[in-house]
Amino acid sequence: MVRLVSQIIFSLATILLATKLSLCHGKTTLNLDHGITFPIFPLRLKSGLGGHYIPETSCSSWRLGVEAHNIIDWKTIPQECEDYVGNYLLGKQYREDSKAVTEEAYKYAKSLNLVGDGKDIWVFDIDETSLSNLPYYAHHGFGVEPYNATAFNEWVDLGIAPPLPESLKLYKKLLGLGIKVVFITGRPESQRDITLNNLKIASYNTFETLIVKNTTEYNGKTAVTYKSSERKKFEENGYRIVGNIGDQWSDILGTNTGNRTFKLPDPMYYIS
Ligand SMILES: [Mg+2]
Repeated sequence: MVRLVSQIIFSLATILLATKLSLCHGKTTLNLDHGITFPIFPLRLKSGLGGHYIPETSCSSWRLGVEAHNIIDWKTIPQECEDYVGNYLLGKQYREDSKAVTEEAYKYAKSLNLVGDGKDIWVFDIDETSLSNLPYYAHHGFGVEPYNATAFNEWVDLGIAPPLPESLKLYKKLLGLGIKVVFITGRPESQRDITLNNLKIASYNTFETLIVKNTTEYNGKTAVTYKSSERKKFEENGYRIVGNIGDQWSDILGTNTGNRTFKLPDPMYYIS
């Protein structure tokens, strides 16, 4: 008798479970108690009638791969991701993602026990970190077009790049904590004056120095080598790099990177 009751309970439980987990149109779905059906996408079979894999580019996966530095040395964004990258940059997600980075940076900066001898510095990159070239890239496919040095330099030479708002906020807060700011950019000596002017227009008024790339000394060298070498000079002169922020991995990799590094989003281009 007890065994019969157990069998009935087991059968009822099986039927109940079967109604909650159902397979429809190739997607496994889960019926939760509140009546909402969730498709379980990772379990979906990505194959056509012939059982062949259907190729597709997931632009959000591509962007994640880029930001995590799993995808490297890329020249242009995938053609099919132009709209996706454009929407990301012009919509609010880019700003939100930037804010998540800079808020974390400030949280870290506040936690520091600074010596107060004026030797604590924070390294800022310029392009897509302090100043935004989005007005230029919005007219050049958001990175889908191959890099055009002539056209890009014409834009830089206008000296009207706006500040990235979240970076500017971080910059001001760091100054408030008594941290000095140093700009290190891959821009060449010939763009020093226009960059200084642009920084001023964009409200970056107080900083220790602006380091531009000596194209003779660093001819053919990567940004990682150049920026590491320049950061090393600061440390050799007794400065402590408490933080370092950039949009490229080459801003924050290499040597003398600083106590903590912060990577801002940039799905438009890659600099090694
Ligand atoms: Mg940059």
